[in-house]
Amino acid sequence: MSTPDFASLGISAPVLKAVQHLGYEQPSPIQAQSIPILLEGGNLLGTAQTGTGKTAAFALPMIQMLTEEQVATGRVRPRLLILAPTRELAVQVEKAMSGFVSTTHLRSLVVYGGVDMRKQIRALKNGIDILVATPGRLLDLAGHGYADLGGVTKVILDEADRMLDMGFVGDIRHIMSGLPQ
Ligand code: AMP
Repeated sequence: MSTPDFASLGISAPVLKAVQHLGYEQPSPIQAQSIPILLEGGNLLGTAQTGTGKTAAFALPMIQMLTEEQVATGRVRPRLLILAPTRELAVQVEKAMSGFVSTTHLRSLVVYGGVDMRKQIRALKNGIDILVATPGRLLDLAGHGYADLGGVTKVILDEADRMLDMGFVGDIRHIMSGLPQ
């Protein structure tokens, strides 16, 4: 069986353009398996080893769906929320996201604990479509009214197993309970 390309998985311009720009020639197995399911709006639990392209596996279909969604004009608030267990991973994911959205009008931001909140608050006020966050800092920002999660339609738990191992289950439940149905 021949390996599908990104277009035959349902990825369309402008996301395809970003993929080509990044030099991805063929989808990795986790990408080939997950992209069609996510584009159909399904829930998915994916497991694959580190370095096998999991970030693009969830990012590309999510970004494509965001570009196709009709949004009300006015303040831009996050529609895609990505939770990650550590600052390092959150930063790494947002860096990848910024490459994937480079050919779109979407904006992404990363927030994590251990640093001054003011810069993050300013960036949130400017309006973003994709928010990558560590759970504790997100709760802090949302609790003070700085992060409006009322427009979130898609959630990714990156390295969910590690987040559970690190004791984030309570924080994750708390965040999820504050999201739209
Ligand atoms: P990840 O497992 O998501 O951390 O990705 C590992 C590395 O593989 C990153 O540098 C990605 O940019 C790269 N990558 C992801 N998908 C592909 C692909 N289909 N073709 C080539 N490189 C890729």
